[in-house]
Amino acid sequence: MRLVFFVLVFAAVPGCTCSGVNRGDVNLVSLDDEWALGDELAAEVDAQTEALSDPRAQAYLDRLGGALAAQTELADREWTFTVLDDPAVNAFALPGGHVYVNAGTIAAAETQSELASVVAHEVAHGAARHGTERMVKAYGLSLVAGLVLGDDPGVIRQIVAELVGQSALARFSRSDEEEADNLGLAYLAAAGYDPDGMAAMFETLTALRQRRPGPLAQWFATHPLGEDRIEAARVAAEGAEPTGEPATDPETFDVVRQRVRAAVPAAATP
Ligand SMILES: [Zn+2]
Repeated sequence: MRLVFFVLVFAAVPGCTCSGVNRGDVNLVSLDDEWALGDELAAEVDAQTEALSDPRAQAYLDRLGGALAAQTELADREWTFTVLDDPAVNAFALPGGHVYVNAGTIAAAETQSELASVVAHEVAHGAARHGTERMVKAYGLSLVAGLVLGDDPGVIRQIVAELVGQSALARFSRSDEEEADNLGLAYLAAAGYDPDGMAAMFETLTALRQRRPGPLAQWFATHPLGEDRIEAARVAAEGAEPTGEPATDPETFDVVRQRVRAAVPAAATP
């Protein structure tokens, strides 16, 4: 696969399509194009992965994810959430509002706020449009525009294979990760979940890694997790008060987690 379109697109472009939430970074892909591209990528992810066959877990994630997406600047767009049948702790967001959460992430979370923090982080990558920013930087605008038009299904397949395989392409920059943590924490609290859930999830995953490194390897490769990141989440949570009641309840979370742990026994559990 030849991806040689390193077109320089970051000249100043007045009146461009900027995401409102990501520090004003230029994003030359229109929202409509991004959502069309997201549908193509999602169809390919669906072909390369397996969704967990558990309607209750799926319904729970739909509610949780929908409540978080409703807090974003792109709440009026269509968002989808999918539980993948995969024991590894991981989650990722495609451009265009498609969020995937591995069953292993649900199995590992100690509380629903911990799980919600991971989903909120991925929703934040989507709302900040980090995916299209990164694709345009890596491939150039002309190739991305061609993908929107469906010009090259081979490239779509390759991009999704790298994403699903968690290669380098799956990694966002450190500043994108910080932004996703900050925005995610705000969405978490605005949706009524405990903002302490983010630091708590980081601690849960760090502890799990000591005992079961296998299912945590992907997560730590794409989400470097130092004490500074945990501390930043702790400090941010102090300034964030949960607003209202969350859309999901802890009892349903317990039931769903139990079912997921039974369905995916290779997952790491606290
Ligand atoms: Zn991230």
